[in-house]
Amino acid sequence: MKDILDMEGWSLTDKRTEGLVETFSAEYVHEPIACSKCGGIKLYRHGTKKTTYADAPLRGFAAKLEATVRRYRCRDCGETFLQPLGGVLDERRMTVRCAEFIAKQALKHTFVHVAREVGIDEKTVRAVAAERMGELGATHKPRLPKVLGIDETKIAGELRLVLTDVEGRRLLDMLPARDKGTLAAWLWQFKDRNAVKVVTIDMWRPYQRLAAELLPNAVVVVDKFHIMRMAGEAMDRVRIRLAKVKQPEVRRHWVRSKVMLNKRPHNLTEKQRFNLEMWLDNEPEIAAAYRAKEAFYGLFDLPKDEAIRAFDGFAASVESSVKPEFKPLLTAMRNWRSEILAVFDHKYTNAFTESLNNLTKHIVKAGRGYSFEVLRARILANYGDPVKEPLFFEFLLRDDGNPCANCGLPCRAEDMHLVTLPPVTRGQRTKRALVCGVCEPRFNTEKVIAHRKTSTRKTG
Ligand SMILES: [Zn+2]
Ligand SMILES: [Zn+2]
Repeated sequence: MKDILDMEGWSLTDKRTEGLVETFSAEYVHEPIACSKCGGIKLYRHGTKKTTYADAPLRGFAAKLEATVRRYRCRDCGETFLQPLGGVLDERRMTVRCAEFIAKQALKHTFVHVAREVGIDEKTVRAVAAERMGELGATHKPRLPKVLGIDETKIAGELRLVLTDVEGRRLLDMLPARDKGTLAAWLWQFKDRNAVKVVTIDMWRPYQRLAAELLPNAVVVVDKFHIMRMAGEAMDRVRIRLAKVKQPEVRRHWVRSKVMLNKRPHNLTEKQRFNLEMWLDNEPEIAAAYRAKEAFYGLFDLPKDEAIRAFDGFAASVESSVKPEFKPLLTAMRNWRSEILAVFDHKYTNAFTESLNNLTKHIVKAGRGYSFEVLRARILANYGDPVKEPLFFEFLLRDDGNPCANCGLPCRAEDMHLVTLPPVTRGQRTKRALVCGVCEPRFNTEKVIAHRKTSTRKTG
């Protein structure tokens, strides 16, 4: 780099530090060759004008570029105009690299947080991020996996379609609406639809019909979590119905204890198991509902042929006192029998989407009021890569990694790079420090060396 500002075409003339803001005064060296009004080439300088641009943070400082912009007068038309500048966005009053910094960081951090580090208002960060994420969203083109998960999640008050690579535990895409047309349009963009061998869906008939139509080689599997959840909900309805006639104190106790009913027995503590037995002894209908729920859950642990027998005998085993609550489950079992039982041949569940659902909630919460496009870009940026451990993205979302030595935004340890930071203010020395992936290219010594080599070749 030729000076600490390191911007192509710009020459640093002065700099000053005020608190946590570093201001770089600079001039743009390239002069215009023609009048911007008439194209005339007889120009002379006619004073200057100072304009300040926000720049990407540097060594913990919010950086400003204070440009001394030359004004020219044209001898032909007599008009004046300002020197056209490179590397800045005039309408945003920021440098191009600042906009890039914002666009990248806004995928992982809240707008408020990014705004604070850059030293500009949140509204500007929001505008830059939205623009960039719109572009990103338009160019996002995933590849169809062998096992496609079709699911939904609630974002900004509406159900959105979520498409996942079930085996790769990877988010493929997120679409604004959950309807047949949206899914059909998404599937149509792929030519290699024959490559999909399994589709996991929830029990929504239009998905199944579309899959049959557009994914001819795919077996449709109902995600067992959806159907298992129905059994849990049926049991809950029985408990809630019975609670209505109890004293408020008992009702509250039941609400506190419901976790014992919902968990599998092998996940209970000794004490919980004892309390649960007491409860079931006193409440025969809850006991009936609990037994039905457990029988249904247990079905998925059986070998296939036993499971099919248990599945077909299940309706008869549900006691009549709790049958009304189990009706939705029994109906679904009848209507989706082959798709539910297909799980025994294709042991895929879209548990990844389930965990994704929980974690996108955090992103949505952190970005309340953000548009769907912004949230989608953010979620794709965080989950678009193969995910091995759930912990991986949980950590990302906590937003409390190690602060980057340059921009101050937190970053996961494995995404940090060791670079040499140049001194910015008096008293600072060159230091080796860890910076985030967004800041790293600016200090990439490899790049600088390569650049020097090529320039030596050119001149020598
Ligand atoms: Zn002119
Ligand atoms: Zn950084």
